[in-house]
Amino acid sequence: MFTLTEAQARLRDTARELAQEAAAQAAETDRSLQYPWPMVRRMTEAKFMGLTIPREWGGQGGSYLDAVLVVEEMAKACAVCGRIAVEANMGAVGAVMAYGTIEQKRIAAELVLAGDKPAICITEPEAGSAAGEMTTTAVRKGDKWIINGVKHWITGGGVSRLHLIFARAIEDGVDQGIGGFLVVRNGENDPAQLVVKRRIPSMGLCGMPEAELHFVELEVPDRMVLRAPGGFKRGFGKLMDAYNGQRVGAATAALGIAAGAYDRALAFVQQRRQFGRPIAEFQGLGWMLADMSIKLEASRALIWQAAASAGPNGFPDRLMAARAKVLAADSAVEVTNAALQLWGAAGYSRENPMERAVRDARMFPIAGGTAQILRNQVAEQLLGRKLPQTRDGMLKLAMDEAT
Ligand code: FAD
Repeated sequence: MFTLTEAQARLRDTARELAQEAAAQAAETDRSLQYPWPMVRRMTEAKFMGLTIPREWGGQGGSYLDAVLVVEEMAKACAVCGRIAVEANMGAVGAVMAYGTIEQKRIAAELVLAGDKPAICITEPEAGSAAGEMTTTAVRKGDKWIINGVKHWITGGGVSRLHLIFARAIEDGVDQGIGGFLVVRNGENDPAQLVVKRRIPSMGLCGMPEAELHFVELEVPDRMVLRAPGGFKRGFGKLMDAYNGQRVGAATAALGIAAGAYDRALAFVQQRRQFGRPIAEFQGLGWMLADMSIKLEASRALIWQAAASAGPNGFPDRLMAARAKVLAADSAVEVTNAALQLWGAAGYSRENPMERAVRDARMFPIAGGTAQILRNQVAEQLLGRKLPQTRDGMLKLAMDEAT
């Protein structure tokens, strides 16, 4: 059972207040497909961008739990704003603050504190859940790395400035493993080498661009390689640990969307009358509301537990983050659907936020580790053994066990 500190309760109240402004523009953001720059400016003024950046770098030194409180309130009102709050506090920025050099931390902090939502570039057309099969390469040439490859479904492509690009590091013709490379768009790198090829039309979160990025002989100075402990061979795993933070954030955005839909449904059923009585009096609907509230409370409990598992400069626990993301993402799909149902035809109208909530929630069991892949991760940790997904990986394991 968590009790918020006074400072955390104040932070949540401040987020709740700003969320009213976010709510006022959410439908237009969805309709216009425009990134909500005015809200980003307001979130920057409220110091919600880079809240988790340590004070020595100009941030608030906030915890993951602090960030989670902000993300939920923003996502209740505007899912896109919630996601911006996630990526301005977790994921790429968390990885740089944990493993970056002084110069890298300075660059990331300056950008994020000024309102940038960094982009994290992992997924490729032929390497989705099997991220380790990526083919984007970074070939070392003296003190530079030359990146070539294609990434897709990159959130913020075209609006983000800081990019954390994952690529196979090749030195002297030898594949060293997967590394992280920092590139600032419209910064010191020629933007012509980082091509925002196209925006991918998406079902929900329509104000947030999802893009296909092409890297064409993109030069990255060696000092912009994000080196996690263990070098390229083991560093990918460490860099992916930063993703545990992002997962907790994504789980929270899903929770916020669902909680917003639930609140509106709870109010609606008490005011809507059929058969001469408020529809809230029908037991079938009461049970739906009960189930919705149980899913939301359970999601929030796992999210807060996962967020609180992060130590100073550390990331949330992998198992807790995976459990929280699975539950919150699946629940968000169920709860938003139920909320729409409670509104009847009005819920199905595009004049009503219910249908937007259903579309917005649907991404969460897919992005940032699908519901299936995260269940694999949970199972691995429960069983205390690797569960290779490739055919030869499983075969090798079986042969190792037989000898
Ligand atoms: P696939 O891997 O092709 O999977 C297809 C289906 O098969 C899924 O249901 C999956 O769960 C299942 N499956 C695959 N392998 C297994 C297995 N071993 N066991 C059980 N089931 C399996 N990527 C980024 O790098 N950066 C981003 O910013 C980013 N943002 C995104 C935003 C959105 C809105 C979306 C939808 C995606 C985003 N992604 C991003 C990509 C996302 O991480 C991938 O979509 C995800 O990893 C799954 O890859 P895939 O879509 O290629 O599906």
